[in-house]
Amino acid sequence: MEHPYAGDTAVLATKHGKLPLIAPPLAHAVGLRVEAVAVDTDALGTFTGDVPRQGPPLDTAIAKARLGMGAAGRALGVASEGSIGPDPAMPLVHVDREIVVLVDDANGIVVWESHSSWDVVARSTSAGPDEDLGPFLSRIHFPEHQLIVRPNRAAVHPIHKGICRLEHLTAAVAECAAASTDGMARVETDLRAHACPSRRAVIARAAERLAHRIASRCPACGAPGWGRVDVVLGVPCARCGTEVARPRAEIDGCAACEHRQTRSLVAPEVRADPEECAFCNP
Ligand SMILES: [Zn+2]
Ligand SMILES: [Zn+2]
Repeated sequence: MEHPYAGDTAVLATKHGKLPLIAPPLAHAVGLRVEAVAVDTDALGTFTGDVPRQGPPLDTAIAKARLGMGAAGRALGVASEGSIGPDPAMPLVHVDREIVVLVDDANGIVVWESHSSWDVVARSTSAGPDEDLGPFLSRIHFPEHQLIVRPNRAAVHPIHKGICRLEHLTAAVAECAAASTDGMARVETDLRAHACPSRRAVIARAAERLAHRIASRCPACGAPGWGRVDVVLGVPCARCGTEVARPRAEIDGCAACEHRQTRSLVAPEVRADPEECAFCNP
């Protein structure tokens, strides 16, 4: 049976050149065409912090998709949203989590997937004019990864974004250092998708996962987007039988109807190591 999106067109709300990352997997998986529509998604919050982000990333991604759908007058839209910050489990390491969402208002469904990476290049430093930034620049893979420069203290302006030439960097540092109360400039990686290749790879991977999920259809109603919606924890301890908080099964669900199916991850006879058990190894 042909996929319901085959030959259809979705709009991608983007300002930052994400089309080549998101369109190919969707075309390949289900024959869905994706066209970019230029909308100012920065109004929903930016990486550079000029506009504070509101709400959880999934809500922002859905709002972006609807912004594009509204602008293009289409019922099918795609958008992506990333969040980069210290990993709660390893605060010294930055994690990039990218969400890609498909909103289908004709059928009332929202399908999304995400991918996380710890390889994203996200660093900052402060520098005075004429300071040698060489080691920092090679660590962040400049100029492939572009930079933002602003005053280190107090002042918000001037701000230079998308810096990918050494002359521009030198001039920006001098200007921003002069505007700062401590005579230093803040130099940080520009995390916007077009300026950050290590982030682009994560968006592409999230888009592949979304494409795979859209290709999966609900066994009950046939809607696209069948896949994991929940995880069931609880594997009995080999010694005392108490359930250890380890994934036992995943629940697949439909984006359109209430149909659910449980998929076991471990055989029923599998027991957890007493080392993991809160009773046996408190
Ligand atoms: Zn136990
Ligand atoms: Zn269904």
